[in-house]
Amino acid sequence: MGKTVLIVEDEKAIVEILKFNLQREGYSVLEALDGEAGLELAQAEDPDLILLDVMLPRMNGFDVCRTLREGGCAIPIIMLTAREEERDKVFGLEAGADDYITKPFSMRELLARVKANIRRRSLDTAQPAQPGSQLLKVGDVAVDPVSMTVTKGGAPVDVTQKEFDLLVRLFSAPGKVCTREELLEKVWNYAYFGDTRTVDAHIKRIRQKLPQENVPWTLKTVYGVGYRFEVNA
Ligand code: CA
Repeated sequence: MGKTVLIVEDEKAIVEILKFNLQREGYSVLEALDGEAGLELAQAEDPDLILLDVMLPRMNGFDVCRTLREGGCAIPIIMLTAREEERDKVFGLEAGADDYITKPFSMRELLARVKANIRRRSLDTAQPAQPGSQLLKVGDVAVDPVSMTVTKGGAPVDVTQKEFDLLVRLFSAPGKVCTREELLEKVWNYAYFGDTRTVDAHIKRIRQKLPQENVPWTLKTVYGVGYRFEVNA
C-alpha cells in the first residue's frame, strides 16, 4: 500500500517541489501551510511520515512535534531546519523528532531519509515484542544480543561491554540520528549532563575494530549532535 507523507511548510515553493518529488516516488502527499493545520492533519490522517519545518506561522515546528509526542504519536518526524542553526537540530531531536535535514537540502538525500525513516517505523511495528534480542546483521558484521558477540566475516571481534551496547543501539536504528546525550543515557545510564566525550572515545574504538572499508554501511558523525548508522542502498 502507498505511504503518505505530510508536509508542514509555509513556503509554497518548497511545498511544491517536495510534493512533486514525493509523488513521483509513489507517495501520497498531504500539505499544511501552518503549524496548527499541520498538527490537526497529523492527528486526523495518521500519515506515515511528517516533514516538519521549524519556522511556521501559528505554531512552530518544535511545538508541533512536542505536542504530537506528548499525545503518544509515534509517526516518524523529519525536521527541516535552517542551515547553520546547530541549536535547531538539538532542539528538534529533544522535541522528539527522529531526524532532521538542513535547508537548502539535496532532494536525493531527503528522499533517502524519508525512505529510511518509514522503513524503520515498519520494522519497529513489525517486531514490538522483543526489541534488541534478534541478530543484527549488516554486510559481514553480525551483532548477536543473545550471545553478546560481534563477528566480522564469521571471525569474532573483541569488543567491550559498552562498545557492544553502543553497537546494538546503532545497528538497531539505521538512519536514525542518535545524539551523544541519548547514547550516554541509554548505554551508560548517565544523566543528561554526563561527559559526551566518553561516547566519542568509544565510537573511535568501534571504528578501529570495524573498519569502514568495502562495507555496505557507514557510521557517520553528525557534527555537533551525535552519530548515525547508515545502511547503503
Ligand atoms: Ca518556514
